[in-house]
Amino acid sequence: MADKDYYEVLGVSRDADQRTIKRAFLKLARKLHPDVNKEPDAEERFKEVNEAYSVLSDERKRANYDQYGNPDGPGGFGSDYVDMSDIFNGGGFGINDIFDSFFGGGRSQGAGRAARTRGRDMGITMRITLEEAAAGCTKTIAYDRLAPCDDCGGTGVAEGGKEKPCDRCHGTGRVVEVQRTIFGQMQTQSTCPVCHGTGKVVDKPCETCDGQGRTPSHETVKVEIPAGVHSGQTIRLPGYGEAGVRGDSAGDLVVSVKVAESERFERQGDDLFCEVSVDSLEAILGTRVEVDGILAGERVVVEVPAGCQFGQQVRVEGKGMPRLNSHARGNLFAVVRVVTPTNLSEGLLEHVRAVASVMHPAGDEREEAEAPAGTKGGASDGSPATSDADAGAAGAAGERRHAAKRQKRSPFHGRKK
Ligand SMILES: [Zn+2]
Ligand SMILES: [Zn+2]
Repeated sequence: MADKDYYEVLGVSRDADQRTIKRAFLKLARKLHPDVNKEPDAEERFKEVNEAYSVLSDERKRANYDQYGNPDGPGGFGSDYVDMSDIFNGGGFGINDIFDSFFGGGRSQGAGRAARTRGRDMGITMRITLEEAAAGCTKTIAYDRLAPCDDCGGTGVAEGGKEKPCDRCHGTGRVVEVQRTIFGQMQTQSTCPVCHGTGKVVDKPCETCDGQGRTPSHETVKVEIPAGVHSGQTIRLPGYGEAGVRGDSAGDLVVSVKVAESERFERQGDDLFCEVSVDSLEAILGTRVEVDGILAGERVVVEVPAGCQFGQQVRVEGKGMPRLNSHARGNLFAVVRVVTPTNLSEGLLEHVRAVASVMHPAGDEREEAEAPAGTKGGASDGSPATSDADAGAAGAAGERRHAAKRQKRSPFHGRKK
């Protein structure tokens, strides 16, 4: 390989700039990558291209090469081989970038034989509702993958053809190269370029799959999503990823679950939060409110205690999300909203006034005593006693009208008196 001209290998002129060199390298690497190109000499040429680029992309090595014909300078010894494991692990050549652009993901396997023929893992995202996450569900996923070839049953061998051990590597899938250096002999192992590490060659390859044993296919698979699943958790379906080369093991399909937000509930861990509304009297006296639970048809009773405040959380034990891989459930927290009634009849208002007059018999005095002490406009955001007392004086005025009147009047109320 050392006698090959690096510029020729990349197909660039001797004065090419770095951009041109990089572009030429990427183009060739994509074309020759052994996982893409199944021509017998592709791997050998791929190595050459990598070696050429590793020298020409480094200004110092390139200068040495130009001057001495050797990237390490006079008397040095160049690397006549590129370790395939380095190449497949990225090795500084940007191979992972190429994979990313090609297959939409990096390689998860290490180098060597397994990485060469085993199918890749594939990832897919599945969106479900919070209700589905609570109950668990079965979903059908449709996706595209390289599946075992139907015509040859995944073997890559056409009818009448057969597999035989590879002559080049004697069926081991690996070749040993011996290099002579100034330190003595160095041995390196690499994947056999003839059989791509399988150890076998096919005398009559299947035409449908080009002897690869796999073809593009649109498939569906059912996936069971367990109750209590959290957003971001993954479910692995072994063997549903990309099929392996010529019957080697397939990769996995990794389903990443995304749980959508719910309008009714907010989830925090395995606990759920919802909102319940009660009116002021219910808040004073306490009440029971029934709401729909997270599970289909489930009704949950929320015991709102007497004297409940706005925003208070009422806990309902065991009515939250099911815990994953367990029969237990988290809790439900009902956040209480206290709503002031606006449509009370005059008859009812009379009762309220009666109660108010008992609770705050000295309402007017209180108003006078408090308003000057309060902040600016104190009467408008003063105690309920103020408005109740006013309501009594205002007679049949509606709540809304009364409120408006109060607001209009209140800034002057305290000063006037
Ligand atoms: Zn071989
Ligand atoms: Zn086939």
